[in-house]
Amino acid sequence: MCLFRVYIPIRDEGLLYDFQQGTNHFDRTDKADVIHRFIRPSSNTTDLKSSPKHRQRFQNPARIAPINPGTSTRRFTVPSANASAQSESETNNALAERHPLFLHNTQSRKKERFVPQKDNNNVSMYVCGVTVYDYSHIGHARVYVAFDVLYRQLVSLGYNVTYARNFTDVDDKIIKRANENGESCDALVGRFIDAFHEDMDTLGCLRPDIEPKATEHMDDIISMTSRLIGKGNAYATGDGDVYFHVESLPSYGALSGRKLEDNRAGGSDRVAIDDRKKHPGDFALWKAAKPGEPTWDSPWGKGRPGWHIECSAMIEKCLGSSIDIHGGGMDLTFPHHENELAQSTAACGCDVDCGDGSTSDPFVKYWVHNGFVKVDSEKMSKSLGNFFTIREVTDKYHPLALRWMLLGTHYRAPINYTQRALEESSDRLFYLYQTLLDASEARDLALENLSTKPPTGIAAEGITLAFETKLAVANALADDLNTPLATASLSQPLKVLNDLVGTKKGKKAVGRDEALSDLVSVVEDTLEKVGLPTTIMATTQEQGSNNSDTSSLADILESLRQLALTRAGLTLSDIEVATKKREEARAEKDFATSDLIRDELFKKGIALMDGAEGSAWRPCPVESASEEE
Ligand SMILES: [Zn+2]
Repeated sequence: MCLFRVYIPIRDEGLLYDFQQGTNHFDRTDKADVIHRFIRPSSNTTDLKSSPKHRQRFQNPARIAPINPGTSTRRFTVPSANASAQSESETNNALAERHPLFLHNTQSRKKERFVPQKDNNNVSMYVCGVTVYDYSHIGHARVYVAFDVLYRQLVSLGYNVTYARNFTDVDDKIIKRANENGESCDALVGRFIDAFHEDMDTLGCLRPDIEPKATEHMDDIISMTSRLIGKGNAYATGDGDVYFHVESLPSYGALSGRKLEDNRAGGSDRVAIDDRKKHPGDFALWKAAKPGEPTWDSPWGKGRPGWHIECSAMIEKCLGSSIDIHGGGMDLTFPHHENELAQSTAACGCDVDCGDGSTSDPFVKYWVHNGFVKVDSEKMSKSLGNFFTIREVTDKYHPLALRWMLLGTHYRAPINYTQRALEESSDRLFYLYQTLLDASEARDLALENLSTKPPTGIAAEGITLAFETKLAVANALADDLNTPLATASLSQPLKVLNDLVGTKKGKKAVGRDEALSDLVSVVEDTLEKVGLPTTIMATTQEQGSNNSDTSSLADILESLRQLALTRAGLTLSDIEVATKKREEARAEKDFATSDLIRDELFKKGIALMDGAEGSAWRPCPVESASEEE
């Protein structure tokens, strides 16, 4: 008997595994094999849930590592870490300690370790939603995909997250559009809320827990405005408007770093001085009614709220006066979020000495902002004509291809939207889902005939790779949601899965069942973390159906094929005709014609593949995509 000790470094600390050798499954000196067997029972819980075959597999006593729990694992910290500080925060927030997550905080301008404000595992997150007067564009897709990944990450780390995202349902643009259409604001808003939900669902974004609407929180908005007047932070002009007085709050500008003297009314643009305002940077909390507008009664007369106050009031009502995460697009930092911060800080006394020496929690602990979307390297705007709604894109490309494209750039970096990038994302997605489908089927067959021998060769390497990928993905996402790195980590596992499924060496590998199982799990697990559907989701949605395991993958592949045909302006029977012509040409050894048919389809995004069972086809990227646009 001897002791194995394996240290797995994770950032400045790591996990140390100790276990005994000498029993039937640990009599080999293959380190990776031992780690893998040790971690598996706890690491694959989603897998266990989803597949009866897996459950049976892990319950097979011959395959479970006989580890003495007392010596099996313990926390390991490098000696340089401050031991006493560490143990104190461990008690304050064990979860943040156990699963470090780093987020870039706009306010501090640096990456910070995420620890919830309160000493428990509850997290409150508010993301500014859309103004519902039109279809959402790809800039919206980017914001809500980014925060969906953050939401999923927090939930997967074990936090109990309350995610709120509002609808701005009273606004100049809504009123103008409803008047143009000759419909009521309510009707317009209702239609575009439904459209927004549809768009977000197709992009795989989970619905927030709370979706407050400004018009349903008028009392809260009026009450906060009154409080701000009472505290001397806001003033009524006497003709029905109420303004927040920026000079009343010394910390104004803390989020954006702007100085008060730089602020002009309404933001950075110089506008005519309004002499009813005490300072040009003062912004409206309440606007007096104008003819033809929806209005609400208030202590200052009939009117409607300004944009910034609605978020402050709804956050306080839905999540409390101090929250963990506030998100949105980078363009909201100023003035919207700066003004929200000012209102909420002034209204509740957040971040202000309470008089008894204590300071209350800040309004927001982490301000998180995502970068812009550029189209063909230019700023996306309606006036430039390079403005795309989500629907315009998803008429041609699979919504998950758009999601994959968005995930390919770090959420804080500017993203360059090109048709070429979408072509490549579609292609990658097809490869990914086809590999996963083939590998899942091969795994299910392999699991019917379990091997009892220790894995060797490509299977052993695959098992190690699955474990390493799991760590790499976890580390990438924990590092300020590095989705490009997390998704790139799948390249090697997908390659090895294809080898295991399709090559002679792979098919013969001892332990192939186990390697397929582990690699499929890590790919599925990663996809779920970044919000792409997997077999796991299909199984839980269609409960009781064992055959639904791979149906969602097949469905996605089918619609990727269908969209490629639509883009090419072809039908399935066109492909069948071309394939038949090509087969005839080949039979007559007329390879020039055969190649011509293949090349012409290839240029249109259809790749013909010659295999043992005849010709098959799959979508491929159109080379000249960006020039055509
Ligand atoms: Zn907002």
